[in-house]
Amino acid sequence: RAKSRGGSQYCVFSNDLAREHQNRIEVEKALGEAVERGEFVLALQPQLSLATGEVTGAEALLRWNHPRDGLRMPNSFIPIAEQTGIINEIGEWVIAEVATMLAEWQREGVSERLAFNISPRQVDRADFFANLRQTMAEHGVPLSMLELEFTETAAMECSAHVLAEIAEMRRGGAKVAIDDFGTGYSNIARLRSMPLDRVKLDPSLIADIETSEQARVVVQAVIQLIKGVGAEIVAEAVENVAQADILRAMGCDTVQGYVFARPMFEDEYLEWTRNSRRVNRSVA
Ligand code: C2E
Ligand code: MG
Ligand code: MG
Ligand code: MG
Repeated sequence: RAKSRGGSQYCVFSNDLAREHQNRIEVEKALGEAVERGEFVLALQPQLSLATGEVTGAEALLRWNHPRDGLRMPNSFIPIAEQTGIINEIGEWVIAEVATMLAEWQREGVSERLAFNISPRQVDRADFFANLRQTMAEHGVPLSMLELEFTETAAMECSAHVLAEIAEMRRGGAKVAIDDFGTGYSNIARLRSMPLDRVKLDPSLIADIETSEQARVVVQAVIQLIKGVGAEIVAEAVENVAQADILRAMGCDTVQGYVFARPMFEDEYLEWTRNSRRVNRSVA
């Protein structure tokens, strides 16, 4: 009996695996078609200086305008895109779109920096950085308009060769940020030697700094550590003014969060930055 039960469990298990495998192939195909059909779009979320209130740049966040399901958020498809490798095609689209937008902004006199997310699968490709540089050159976009975001785990695990490429991008003027800091395992010695401009605190670190003394103590220590290695601090998913005030007092440089602005599509974003520049001029 035990054996037959084991046998049937094995069967269910392998059916699940087969179904999962099939599902993955279908999603991969759908994502590839989505790239070809131009169903992706970037949402832009402003970043503001806590000291001056000025917009310092934005992060580009991927959205999938699905013909049937409507707007799909990255957490629902990026993990599968990374598993299947189709993230490389999607990532190329993101880079081309960033280049197109920045070229247009430059013509219109907008010089804000644009940050975008890079998955570990992308940097594993030998020609990734050469292609990135070439795309920007073709659009006449200086590297100084870019900020490259790598997750903490990706940054800690990348090879010496990739680190050298990142350092080279930085010498060319690009900023380098570590994303989701506080969720991975940082090697402090490596953090010290990373080519690095900014560290983005993971939302889980700051979620309850208004209510928890312990959370404040931890965030203060993390900020001190990051400043100690010479990097700036960006707080992400800041949702209320109380959090922003605490972060400012703790020496955080930049905020990105619903309290100031949600991710917006390009036209709305440009309108928003135009207005915020006007507001800043009139207060100054
Ligand atoms: P991330 O890079 O850490 O991006 C920050 C996320 O926080 C975004 O979620 C943003 O919309 C959200 N957020 C911003 N302000 C607030 C706030 O005040 N409260 C809350 N609760 N959330 C806030 P989103 O757009 O859903 O993106 C999720 C993740 O998907 C990103 O996290 C990033 O890891 C990944 N992702 C997005 N675009 C790309 C891309 O082009 N390529 C790759 N490889 N990954 C991407
Ligand atoms: Mg456009
Ligand atoms: Mg990011
Ligand atoms: Mg993040």
